[in-house]
Amino acid sequence: MPETEIIVHDILIVGAGLAGSWAAMVAAKQGVQDVAVLSKIHPLRSHSGAAQGGIAGALNNVRPVAGGGPDGPLEQIPAGDAPIDSVDLHVFDTIKGSDWLGDQDAIEIMCREAIDVLYEYEHMGCVFSRTPDGRIAQRRFGGHSTPRANYAADWTGHVLLHTIHEQALRHKVKFYNEWYCMDLIIEDNVCRGVVAMDVLQGKIYTMRAKAVLFGTGGYGRAYKITSNAFANTGDGVAIAYNAGIPLMDMEFVQFHPTGLYKHGILMSEACRGEGGYLLNNKHERFMERYAKGKMELAPRDLVSRSEQQEIDEGRGVEADGQGIWLDLRHLGREKIMERLPQVRELAIDFVGVDPIDGLVPIQPTAHYSMGGIAADADGQVIADLAGTPVVGFYAAGEAACISVHGANRLGTNSLLDASVFGRRAGYAMARFVQNGAALQPVSGDPAQRSRARVQALLDNPGTELVEDVAQDLKTTMTNNCGIFRDEARLQQAMREIKVLQARFKNARTMDKSSRFNTDLLATLEADHMLTFSEVIVAGALARQESRGAHSRTDFPQRDDDRWLVHTMAHKNGADGPQLSFKPVTIDYDKYPPQERKY
Ligand SMILES: Cc1cc2nc3c(=O)[nH]c(=O)nc-3n(C[C@H](O)[C@H](O)[C@H](O)COP(=O)(O)OP(=O)(O)OC[C@H]3O[C@@H](n4cnc5c(N)ncnc54)[C@H](O)[C@@H]3O)c2cc1C
Repeated sequence: MPETEIIVHDILIVGAGLAGSWAAMVAAKQGVQDVAVLSKIHPLRSHSGAAQGGIAGALNNVRPVAGGGPDGPLEQIPAGDAPIDSVDLHVFDTIKGSDWLGDQDAIEIMCREAIDVLYEYEHMGCVFSRTPDGRIAQRRFGGHSTPRANYAADWTGHVLLHTIHEQALRHKVKFYNEWYCMDLIIEDNVCRGVVAMDVLQGKIYTMRAKAVLFGTGGYGRAYKITSNAFANTGDGVAIAYNAGIPLMDMEFVQFHPTGLYKHGILMSEACRGEGGYLLNNKHERFMERYAKGKMELAPRDLVSRSEQQEIDEGRGVEADGQGIWLDLRHLGREKIMERLPQVRELAIDFVGVDPIDGLVPIQPTAHYSMGGIAADADGQVIADLAGTPVVGFYAAGEAACISVHGANRLGTNSLLDASVFGRRAGYAMARFVQNGAALQPVSGDPAQRSRARVQALLDNPGTELVEDVAQDLKTTMTNNCGIFRDEARLQQAMREIKVLQARFKNARTMDKSSRFNTDLLATLEADHMLTFSEVIVAGALARQESRGAHSRTDFPQRDDDRWLVHTMAHKNGADGPQLSFKPVTIDYDKYPPQERKY
């Protein structure tokens, strides 16, 4: 393909994780002929495939055995017995988990459509684990009041992603594998396509479409210790922000309580869902002090803070006192082999401990981005506080902020979020195209601007190394914008990011070649991380309260009078983000804000 050729599709989706793949599959199934997906890595390497524990949905297949206690055994609900779970209970748990910052209308949609989505997965052949009578198996997860995590051993994301990818292929979706999106083309509030690089050839193209969706995933890679894949560098979020799109609630970054010590690799919450304990260096189950009712199955923000407090007060494990023990030994070999086989292998491979008979050292790890591109429940991206749509531009999954997770996401709700809202966005884009949306003209040569950007990066003789700048960013984000935050540390993070942005301008890309230049990709990714990290810190500085995952030691209380609002960040030239605040959608009769206790 000559590089000057312009590529055209009806619908163009960036990201082949669950959000992007659902959207593509649904749009194609609805009869849109020409749907294409770009992914910077092979679609099946998308981070969705790494998800372990489960996908939420009130299917009512399983209940705790009477009298067994909060971590006692489960049994299938006999046919004809009363259900224990409901969509309303799932909604309430999610709202409470979100510390009342989630938009309640969107949460209701997600929890209601969970049931359809799960059965659709099942009918497409997804290999869930099963109850003895053949229904989808369910386990407990943090912050959920019933066992509603539907799972496939600890490979849930893997089986979901394979299922949906196969279906997308079956419906003739075209995949551009290892194509890197670099820019978004928006003029007069109408999206007209993207600019992307064919990584193998090193060529850059303008790709026009009637509708574009970003399902580009999260950005845990801005932190030093993270459970996220190398690809999770928040490209889509930064590209949208640079194109003038507002980002919402970026200050809320989730730390998962059980990353492998020093590595951050995830030990699924299913470890605790199946009954695992957390112990300090005195072998105490310290969660008793922080969340007596829920113990290890309190929500993630609370458990991570509790671990960090134990560590900070000198009760951590390992030589540097920065770890906590995860104890699975009492679950027994059989249960670990059946329910947590991947987790066991990870512990053996990375820290040399077999959880069947050893204590696994873990620590909190940056895991999930609650914030992202502001969008409504059809994935329609909005331009401002009034909700003006950016015509033809959609977002779903972890890159989006439809605000179902508010200030803290409950485990298993994000595979659900990506599936439900990817699917809804697929329907919405199909309607948009089939109702006669036209291919909008593009002024100038957007690809040429991206070629010039790449050339400038390759030609930069700078004295810095991109890798050093990226590492320093991760260090300051971890030390100064992590689990506990305060004014002084956040100010320091902001100062350091400004310095790092300046250093980046003087950073050189080592590899100058055009084909499969991963060094160049790492440079572009570092640029993106420097862009959105500033937004995280700006939001965290502004929000003078503690809510969900955002914990300010200088403002330890939640402050609903001032801060029961979403943060919206627009790019304001070189001055950094311009913040404004959007009301939260709350049904005050049904789910009025309450104190959040577990
Ligand atoms: C280790 C781990 C375990 C998890 N376990 C669970 C769990 O048990 N339950 C749960 O609910 N959630 C879990 N999560 C969270 C959940 O997996 C994710 O939030 C969700 O899968 C995100 O899906 P997505 O489609 O938005 O993005 P992803 O699956 O991350 O996909 C992003 C896609 O965007 C593409 N992309 C990104 N940038 C570009 C670019 N510039 N150009 C082209 N393509 C690009 C990538 O190639 C990829 O295809 C887990 C997360 C992790 C890290």
